[in-house]
Amino acid sequence: MGEFDLINRYFKRPQAIARVGIGDDCAILTPYVGYERCVTTDLLIEGHHFLPDVAPAALGHKALAVNLSDLAAMGAQPSTFTLALGLPKADEAWVAEFARGMFALADAHACHLIGGDTTASPIVVVSIAAMGLLPMGGGVLRSGAQPDDDIWVSGTLGDGALGLAVQLGKVKLPADHAAYCVDRVERPRPRIALGLALANVAHSMMDLSDGLAGDLPHILAASRVSARVDVNNLPLSDALRALPLPEAQQLAANGGDDYELLFTAPPGARNRLQFIAQQQSIALTRIGVIESMTDGRPTLQWFENGRPATRSFHGFEHFAA
Ligand code: ADP
Ligand code: MG
Repeated sequence: MGEFDLINRYFKRPQAIARVGIGDDCAILTPYVGYERCVTTDLLIEGHHFLPDVAPAALGHKALAVNLSDLAAMGAQPSTFTLALGLPKADEAWVAEFARGMFALADAHACHLIGGDTTASPIVVVSIAAMGLLPMGGGVLRSGAQPDDDIWVSGTLGDGALGLAVQLGKVKLPADHAAYCVDRVERPRPRIALGLALANVAHSMMDLSDGLAGDLPHILAASRVSARVDVNNLPLSDALRALPLPEAQQLAANGGDDYELLFTAPPGARNRLQFIAQQQSIALTRIGVIESMTDGRPTLQWFENGRPATRSFHGFEHFAA
């Protein structure tokens, strides 16, 4: 099956969101009066972001999920996406499964595929660019954190990192915990509804892809503020709780691939945030506070049992020495 048959069979679906969609040289999108468009893109490479034997449906889901998570982190409503795909061979069954996983998530968020590129490649490479809508002048940035803001996270932390360790055979867990963590790393659920609800509450926001210890400093640097976080406050799933506590806390602080939302909000918003948490059945946990910078640079201080932590924490960084 050739490139164009593959595209027509598996990726071309009726959509009404773009005036011109798949099939021409470009898609054409009509602007929405009163809205701005938010754009993000992510690249996933075999052997680096996913294992060569990954289930194609899970890969299709994740490639879109990481982009939708970025839209969630801005408080945007997903609308459209493009898909660039590099494949070693035109394996129809593989592509069918990939498309199934991807479209299940796309449909759940009313996000439409409007174009892409398909090419032969020595390994599987997937890049999605997703677009979302924001009310004019909206969008929760990394730069809005203010001294005295509470620091919050959604859901639980460290499950993605533990799931990866299970996949790599580095840890053995009871079957139910293993299944839970692997699902977390393979099928992250982008927090779209939560991001929308937080759009008028949060001062700053981002999604957690490289781990709290690596990601929170981005908010601090952009906002020119410092922070204190207590490791005892990090929300842990049952799977993490079954591990020795220091190990679980290291995973929660350092582990990547959680795709939860990290945000700051004034103390006056606590009741409203608990209401949002209840309404959406998503745990929201206060893990620390924003402070002004003391010596002119943003610092992240870790606390443990009320005292400065003696352990160190750091997130995942590509190209780090
Ligand atoms: P061009 O050569 O002009 O870049 P292509 O031949 O690459 O166009 O693609 C033909 C059409 O198919 C375009 O509209 C493109 O957006 C669409 N397309 C190609 N690959 C994909 C894909 N993986 N998913 C969705 N649409 C795709
Ligand atoms: Mg092309």
